[in-house]
Amino acid sequence: MTTAQISEDVIRDVVQEVLTQLRGGGSPATPGAGPGAAAVPIGASSPIAARPAAPAGSHAGKWGIFNCVDEAAAAAKAAQTWLKQQTIATRAEIVQTIRDVVRSRIEELGKMEFEETKIGRLDHKFDKLKLIIDAVSGTEFLRSEAYSGDAGLTVVEHAPFGVIGTITPVTHVIPTMCCNALQMIAAGNTLVINPHPSGIRTAIYITRLWNQAIHEKVGVDNLICVMEKPTLETAEAIFTHPDIAMLCVTGGAGVANAAMASRKKAVVAGPGNPPVVVDETADIDRAAQKIIQGATYDNNLLCVAEKQVFAVASIFDKLMNAMERHGGYRLSTQQMDAVGAKCFIQQNGHLVLNRDVVGKDAQVLAGMIGLSVPRGTQILYGETDANHVLVQHEQMTTVIPIVRCSDVDQAIELARQSEHGFGHTCIMHSMNVANLTKMGRVMNTTLFFKNGATNEGEGFVSYSIATPTGEGPTSPLTFTRVRRCIMIGHLRII
Ligand code: NAD
Repeated sequence: MTTAQISEDVIRDVVQEVLTQLRGGGSPATPGAGPGAAAVPIGASSPIAARPAAPAGSHAGKWGIFNCVDEAAAAAKAAQTWLKQQTIATRAEIVQTIRDVVRSRIEELGKMEFEETKIGRLDHKFDKLKLIIDAVSGTEFLRSEAYSGDAGLTVVEHAPFGVIGTITPVTHVIPTMCCNALQMIAAGNTLVINPHPSGIRTAIYITRLWNQAIHEKVGVDNLICVMEKPTLETAEAIFTHPDIAMLCVTGGAGVANAAMASRKKAVVAGPGNPPVVVDETADIDRAAQKIIQGATYDNNLLCVAEKQVFAVASIFDKLMNAMERHGGYRLSTQQMDAVGAKCFIQQNGHLVLNRDVVGKDAQVLAGMIGLSVPRGTQILYGETDANHVLVQHEQMTTVIPIVRCSDVDQAIELARQSEHGFGHTCIMHSMNVANLTKMGRVMNTTLFFKNGATNEGEGFVSYSIATPTGEGPTSPLTFTRVRRCIMIGHLRII
């Protein structure tokens, strides 16, 4: 190569760099830095050399924040068109970026969510974020299957749906958004999220951070879109939008029913009211400790958390005493009635959960009935009958009713009734395998915890437990379409 050629090469590089800066305001070393940057040819050795240009157009630079469902859906659709052309490695990079944003800001994000929603416990907000980034599965969960035989070779692959309309609860703003985004994007989809209005500032903040970080990494915006002013109307517009291919809804009965009634494919993570049964064979001290551990996690905000206990008479008093040793404060029957009356109030002729009690510390809840409890009290508890309002309804706060049962059969039957067929979660403390088996069969719930708390156990984590629609804890595969590629007569190589 001559000196003149070298000079030409150098000049070409310099001109290209200047053009890049002019078009996108970024440097070629950070290909996603501006709207036009990804369209500029990049070196063949770059890891993103094969990436198609990110969708340009009016939605770049919105960082996923929209006040119109049509615009959000259009931006998410354009982003998905780009995403589906990418390699799995690029999806994995995006998933890692989503995790890294949360990992680098756990304190800030946990505090922001806690301060905005004013529910739950700050230490558990941090815990939940750590759990999400470490235990929610991404692209590694994807797989293909094959059938090989005399007729040839069939390959089964899992394709993205497209844009997924996503509804998230106030109880876990970032955890649910993060879990949904990780799994849906790993599977090749993009999201339009209608978050709960009571956590909207946090939802917008994390969406902007994610989109900016993803853009910096791979040059695309709007993989995760969020409604700036979420309402029932924006939810309805998402449910019916032609560019939204499927729904994933996480919340209570109202939104679960609305999604079930929609004409789209819906993954519905609905409400629960998880009962606990304790029989005479259980390790009673451990049962009390585990019930309190699960029921106090984030002040009982979790849909899986222990909400009411059915204990057989022979160990009832022992369990009540043990609850006190593990941070419970025992209430009289009248006090339990008073707490129940604070938790559930009449609204338009219906009994509804009083939002003022949700996720509150035990001291605050006790204060609402004029009671002062020692610092460090984790939860209020007391004996009630099986029809008590706190037994029959999902309270999501720091009180747990305990019902005395004549035997394990009665306990299981009352537990079944109190779960109302949600098919969500139940818990049993027992060393008798026949009783455990009966509980599992009678309850027929998606999750059945045995001899432990609902915030522990093996298996991948999800913040959307799809109950009426039956997918269980969601994974990336939940958000895929099964496609078969069938070769007849060839490609079987044995
Ligand atoms: P919520 O039902 O009040 O709200 C959930 C979401 O649905 C919010 O974004 C809300 O704005 C929206 N919404 C409510 N009614 C709607 C309707 N008719 N149409 C469209 N959107 C509607 O619930 P929450 O207080 O935020 O969360 C707690 C509830 O969610 C509990 O019942 C809990 O069991 C359930 N939950 C279930 C899971 C699960 O994985 N199954 C996970 C978390 C929470």
